[in-house]
Amino acid sequence: MNLSITKTANPKPKPDPNNLGFGTLFTDHMLNMDHDPEKGWHNARIEPYSPFSLDPSTMVLHYGQGIFEGLKAYRREDGGVQLFRPEANFARFNRSADLLCIPRIDANQAIEHLKELVRLEKEWVPGAPGTSLYIRPTIIAADPYLGVRVSHHYRYFVILSPVGAYYPQGFNPVRIWVTMNYVRAVRGGLGEAKTMANYAASLYAGQRAHDQGYTQVLWLDGVERRFIEEVGSMNIFFVLGGTLVTPALNGSILPGITRDSVIKLARRWGMPVEERAVSIDEIFDAQAAGKLDECFGTGTAAVISPVGELKYGERAITISGNQVGPMARKFYDAITGIQYGLAKDPFGWITRL
Ligand SMILES: *Cc1c(COP(=O)(O)O)cnc(C)c1O
Repeated sequence: MNLSITKTANPKPKPDPNNLGFGTLFTDHMLNMDHDPEKGWHNARIEPYSPFSLDPSTMVLHYGQGIFEGLKAYRREDGGVQLFRPEANFARFNRSADLLCIPRIDANQAIEHLKELVRLEKEWVPGAPGTSLYIRPTIIAADPYLGVRVSHHYRYFVILSPVGAYYPQGFNPVRIWVTMNYVRAVRGGLGEAKTMANYAASLYAGQRAHDQGYTQVLWLDGVERRFIEEVGSMNIFFVLGGTLVTPALNGSILPGITRDSVIKLARRWGMPVEERAVSIDEIFDAQAAGKLDECFGTGTAAVISPVGELKYGERAITISGNQVGPMARKFYDAITGIQYGLAKDPFGWITRL
């Protein structure tokens, strides 16, 4: 493998696995790789985790040409470590790269390099229930230049962060604010890409939601502000009269891997699934007609996040009596069961180290 490894001389003490938050602690090593127009992607290397020195004119700092991914390594009961659907993450990484005019990386090689990094940091994969090692691959535009154009140089890096259980006090429904005034992305924009810009665009509405006591924003489409897109940084699902319904990937929604896993599980269980346009009015009408059984978000961090309340203008509805619904529970148990190696993996989603 063309990967050089330089080990740290000063390993850090491992944190208490029962007191991990999210995204504040990082392991001893990271992966770096550079791109230039002559050599393409080259010089893949594992090095001690350390700050970058960047010229203040570095393009990503000014124009946001960058992409990232988020996936996890899980500790099995037998002590082994495994990744969940890394091929899907690196395939999406390259689709994001296309949209941001960033040169693609070799996905198979990137997975091999990542496995090598996680193997080296194996002791950092926590073993307490619900904990994991969060993996953040990123690419940034690296030219020192203030003009607006596509960068010629890039840095790829991967950092690792041991993270705590998302639900230390158990699985709790969240309150969601449907924004009528702000939009995250529009078709033809960057909504399908996992890129910094979409997060910058989401902060203002997120703050307004927090001000009013809501955890997350439910985004509507940017044109008619009628059709549901996604929630915060998660995809969204409804159970309507026993059918699983989620907005179709229309060009402005992030194609979540947890979303895809939920759909594949539901189909395997024989549950009817619809990927289609879903208006906010349809959801409020279904609730009035007693047909809105459940609502939940999906994403790598929480896996499943049940929604207990939706607030839209002057109207607010309570869903599943503000309790965790049976389907939310069933998807959560099935996906985490595969991730931690407690259940069979009929889809080939697991990569063991
Ligand atoms: C990452 C992300 C998701 C969830 O994707 P997963 O692959 O399931 O983690 C959903 N929406 C947005 C905007 C995201 O960035």
